[in-house]
Amino acid sequence: MSLALLSSCDIKAHAKSLGFIACGLAKAEPVEGDAEALFHRWLEHGYEADMEYLRRNIDKRLNPKLLVPGVKTIVSLAMNFMPADQQPAISLYAQGKDYHDVMQERMQMLMEAMHLQGRCFVDTAPVMERYWARRSGIGIITQSGLIAVPGYGPTVFLGELFLTSETDAYDEPLPDSMPRHLGWSDLCPALTPDGLDANRCISYHTIEHHGLLPNEVRLRHTFYGCDRCLRATPQFAESRPTAESAFQPSEDLLKMKAEDWERLTEEDYRKLFKGSAVKRAKYDGLKRNIERWLKDNKVGVSK
Ligand code: SF4
Repeated sequence: MSLALLSSCDIKAHAKSLGFIACGLAKAEPVEGDAEALFHRWLEHGYEADMEYLRRNIDKRLNPKLLVPGVKTIVSLAMNFMPADQQPAISLYAQGKDYHDVMQERMQMLMEAMHLQGRCFVDTAPVMERYWARRSGIGIITQSGLIAVPGYGPTVFLGELFLTSETDAYDEPLPDSMPRHLGWSDLCPALTPDGLDANRCISYHTIEHHGLLPNEVRLRHTFYGCDRCLRATPQFAESRPTAESAFQPSEDLLKMKAEDWERLTEEDYRKLFKGSAVKRAKYDGLKRNIERWLKDNKVGVSK
């Protein structure tokens, strides 16, 4: 194995050729004090709801060297997911193919083409992805706690390479736009000064939560995920349609109307969401969401 430093310019150029809209490099060091304290406060509040995995491997989440022994460099990568056409009942990020698969494949291609040693993650390990995206200079943390990439806004997926070599240059963080969540509880009570309270978040309830939806959850816009804070973020004005065909909705998905959703069978669901992140909610979870969404929009078709 060569001991020569990796070229950050070569990594960035190759990442761009593979469709990543941003690529930044940071030294793999323990997460800095403020972010660590914020994460602990967030857990103390119980804002993770029943996503118990967030309470596991906290040491690895806060120190990349415990997650990947020998890691020297963290490469943050972003892809633009803003679909050109949209199915209004589904969150923007889930209109096309599952980003885990798309990003993972592209990141593997980058690792292989550049003979990089290490591991790649897309929501697949305890990694503070927004922290590392900011730390590696590819984006800013917005008022609503999202990451926004200059020129592309907050409609981006993130992934990370944990490399066991050093590179010849590292990036500096960009300044945050404002203290996060300041005054945003008016928009949504789930946005607190100590981070997002999943117990009150529609995205959490319609995607991650199994079982009954709490009575207070109102689904007036989307029944899978929620884009309200994303769309309200000032940087959303920078979002523009992606060139990635994988993130565009299918013709069949675009055609779906309230009456079609009401009659959705398990077979329809399998065809419509083959290879889609929506499968995370499973058929029963999606039907549960649709039922609430129809009720909250007072649409009833087959009586
Ligand atoms: S996704 Fe929706 S419910 Fe969750 S914090 Fe944003 S606006 Fe609130």
